[in-house]
Amino acid sequence: MQQISQKPLLVIDLGGTKILSAVITPLGYILSRNYCLTMAERGPKAVIDTLITNVSGVLGKAKLESRDLDGIVVAAAGILDTIHGVVTVSPNLPGWRNVHLGEILLRKFGLATLLINDANAAALGENRFGVGKGIDNLIYLTVSTGIGGGIIIGGKLYSGADGCAGELGHMIIEAKGPKCGCGNNGCLEAMASGTAMAREVVDRIEKGEMSTVIQLVQGSLDKVDAKIVAMAAKQGDGLACHVVNRIAYYLGIGFVNLVNIFNPEMIIIGGGVSRMGRMLLEPARRVMKERAFKLPSRTVRIVRSRLGYDAGILGAAAYFSDQRLNGVI
Ligand SMILES: [Zn+2]
Repeated sequence: MQQISQKPLLVIDLGGTKILSAVITPLGYILSRNYCLTMAERGPKAVIDTLITNVSGVLGKAKLESRDLDGIVVAAAGILDTIHGVVTVSPNLPGWRNVHLGEILLRKFGLATLLINDANAAALGENRFGVGKGIDNLIYLTVSTGIGGGIIIGGKLYSGADGCAGELGHMIIEAKGPKCGCGNNGCLEAMASGTAMAREVVDRIEKGEMSTVIQLVQGSLDKVDAKIVAMAAKQGDGLACHVVNRIAYYLGIGFVNLVNIFNPEMIIIGGGVSRMGRMLLEPARRVMKERAFKLPSRTVRIVRSRLGYDAGILGAAAYFSDQRLNGVI
């Protein structure tokens, strides 16, 4: 077994909207951060160039050079081949097919580089540093424009045979439901994400239903998003409340599946849509209580993330340290 390094790590959260680079100590103390926009539509090469510039910025802020670091870990959305450091496909990063990001960064910085799915990283982050600290069996679900997930079993991240387990947003909830970004139909993501919420409201308004959402976006229905729907629901708008309840119902069905399959002690909900809090989680919890097996449904606690956006970078750093300790790198 190897000794854990005292050198800090470079952690990169590569998302469809923004890139966050951070320098983090092995104990999870964040020394510096640097954000920039991904501008993902420009394709992989331009995004990787932006990412490298962002990394230079974060190292500058921390007054460090790459030789002062133990390694690099990238948390990215998408289906990753974590063993070979390849982004095989990512719905939020157009044009990314089989990009050998690990090798590219290794060549650029001369440091061991690992990749981890961003929601998997957040699951580990909550387990080590957040609301799930000390909980051995938990599920993390991030609900925002999409739905991602991570599974902790026996205190360890469950990665599956290829390292791509935990795509909980793509469990099928309605076999003939609407098309999902992954190409399938009726996935949890297609039924209960922020995108699904906005789509449902817009569809109903276009069919003639009335809603204060129309005033909130001053008639521009392309501006409707989950935040707007949540605002309208809080003000008591009938259509918005109906759609929020519908989303909560499908989220609850997702919980039923997770509770019956994994019997977790805790389900942690993160992501922008989770900020709706009780309005979303209470009805979802009720569905879970009604439809899951009684014993696991009594045990499980459904709670909100405590670390927010830091869950991913802290978890990614923990993942790197684990791999070092296990002699993988
Ligand atoms: Zn899907």
